[in-house]
Formats: sequence, C-alpha cells, structure tokens
Amino acid sequence: MLTVKNLSFSYESFPVLKDLNFNVQQGEHLAVIGESGSGKSTLLKLIYGEFDLIEGEIHWKNSQVLGPKFNLVVGYDFMKYVAQEFDLMPYTSVEENVGKFLSNFFPEEKQQRTAELLDVVELKPFAKTKVKTLSGGQKQRVALARALAKEPEILLLDEPFSHIDNFKKQSLRRSVFNYLKSKNITCIVATHDKEDVLGFADHMMLLNNQKIEAYATPEKLFKNPGTPLIASFFGEYNNIDNAIVYAHQLKIVESSALKVVVKHSYFRGNFYMIEALYNDDQIFFESDSPYNPNTIIRLEIVK
Ligand code: ADP
Ligand code: MG
Repeated sequence: MLTVKNLSFSYESFPVLKDLNFNVQQGEHLAVIGESGSGKSTLLKLIYGEFDLIEGEIHWKNSQVLGPKFNLVVGYDFMKYVAQEFDLMPYTSVEENVGKFLSNFFPEEKQQRTAELLDVVELKPFAKTKVKTLSGGQKQRVALARALAKEPEILLLDEPFSHIDNFKKQSLRRSVFNYLKSKNITCIVATHDKEDVLGFADHMMLLNNQKIEAYATPEKLFKNPGTPLIASFFGEYNNIDNAIVYAHQLKIVESSALKVVVKHSYFRGNFYMIEALYNDDQIFFESDSPYNPNTIIRLEIVK
C-alpha cells in the first residue's frame, strides 16, 4: 500500500501542495484530477522521489520514498513513472526502447516480453521503426510500454493519453488499464480527461488550492458533485437556485416555472446541447432535436 502522510511541497517559496493525506491499495487505480497548475504532475514527481518534501512522508509497503537529498539515484525498482514529457532514445527502434531495461541474458524472454507489451500499447507493426520518426502519440505509447517492461508494483502516469488521437484512445485506454488490473499493478493517473477516470478509476482525488478538495469513487462524485469545479469535470452543468444540475438532468416539459429562451443548439452526436437564458443566466440542457434561437422552452429538473 502507498501511504502519503502530511505531504507539503513548495517550489522555492511558491507553495503547491499543503498537508495531503491519502492511501492507495495494491492493485488500486487512483485518478488525480485538477485544473492545469493544480499540482498533479508535482504530486506524481514527489511520489516518485524526484523532489524533497518540505514536510511529510511517503511509504510504499515498508520502504520510505526519499527525495534526492537522501537518495542519490532517483527512482525505485518497484515504481515506474511516465512523465508528461517522455524521454526516449530517438535513434533506436521501438522494440529496443521498450526492452531497454530488460536483461540481455535471456534474449527469448526479452523478445517475448517486448512483443507482449507492444501488443498492450497497440504498436506491434512499429516494432522496427525508429522512435524519431513516430508521432507524439506513438512515442507516448512507447514510453508506456517501457515503463511496464519490468512489471512495476506501482505505475505513475501523467496524462498518459494526452497525445493520442481519438481514433485510438478508447481502445488503448481499455487495453492499458485492463492490463494493469489483470497484473494487480497499482496505478496513479494524473488527468483532466474524465474518460480516463470513468469506468477505470477506483477512486478519484481532486486537487484545488493546494489541497485535496474531494476524494471518493467516481460514481459518488458524479452523483454528488458538491462543488461547481467537480461538476465541471464531468460535463456541462448549471447552478439553479444554488443547486448543481447537470445539463442532462433538465427535461423539457409543457409547463413549469423554469422558462428559458434558446440561444444556440450544438450538435453533440446522440443529442443536442442547448444553450439558453434563464432570466439573465446562461443555462444548458440536452435535447433530442435542435431549437431555433429565441424559442421559449420550459424545463423541469429530473434527478
Ligand atoms: P499540473 O500538473 O496540475 O498542471 P504542476 O504540478 O505541473 O500542475 O504545477 C503546479 C504548480 O507548480 C504550477 O503553478 C506550476 O507553475 C508550478 N511549477 C511546476 N513545476 C515547477 C518548477 N520546476 N519550478 C517552479 N514552479 C513549478
Ligand atoms: Mg501536469
């Protein structure tokens, strides 16, 4: 189990994280979310031992994670970290990059393991390709496979699919996260993409103002967002009489006091997102069909 106790950290005199406390179980998948600059990457780097804590302790099982002041070589065998900016060997092939840390004493095992990992990140056809010629998304997948090569007990992923196009993203996510679950690898993912969280994360943690603003299962936070910041992570929402109401929780009805004037209809695939005005406030709701601007609609909250 990973234990983070009273963790505080500043860059110079600029505080980023203050008094964080949380645990992550073996095999658990934790999503760390928060706005850009909220400290997600910093937290992963601290867990990896890249910086010295101002205060607090981090433990994995019985070993304490120590920063550079106490540990000359950053990193531990049980833990791997895939940074937002990954550093690969550009002039060597994809398979050589993935197998970089695997022993050459067992060439057959090495070959097999590399092939398995290229399968997980869906890069088999690129095994012999030089990394230099790959796209950003493909490089990200190579970095991921390399981090998995020696099967860490805990994997830290910083926005792991941010460079990957939408065509590939869904299947790659399933492949990687299901692989981690099947191997019981603990995984902490920093992300601002709800798709990385829903259906995969056991818990999610929201960082805001240097603190953990929320920590719960995705289902709990989705159903009871509590704050606009949490609601905004999941989708379009409204603040109606001080209550948070998602766009999909508004239903069009014949008569109600919630009378709105349509401003714009956005095609969203299986529905339209309608932007309207309720008194002078912007309001969003979903509809099967678009509406002309200035149409008057009445809505009801259905939770
Ligand atoms: P996130 O990953 O959530 O976007 P970061 O952890 O990268 O956030 O950054 C948190 C805050 O720390 C930001 O305000 C950022 O500008 C600052 N920061 C990040 N890295 C450094 C650094 N090496 N030196 C000084 N400040 C930094
Ligand atoms: Mg970041």
